Amino acid sequence: MIYKFERPLIGDNMEGYSQKLYQCPICKLYYKNEEMAKKCRAWCSKHSSCNLAITKYSIERMKN
Ligand SMILES: [Zn+2]
Repeated sequence: MIYKFERPLIGDNMEGYSQKLYQCPICKLYYKNEEMAKKCRAWCSKHSSCNLAITKYSIERMKN
């Protein structure tokens, strides 16, 4: 399922996240912070590769 990150995703008991998450539509990573999701999308659409300085703030990276 694809979510547009402009439309906040409400974490539904997803490992305890009950807050809004924002997804980069290109690399599919989730962010708690809308600004980071926007930066990620801007980077991904330009460079078609991920910027570690941005993706380290994603939910996926923070879990590790
Ligand atoms: Zn991205």
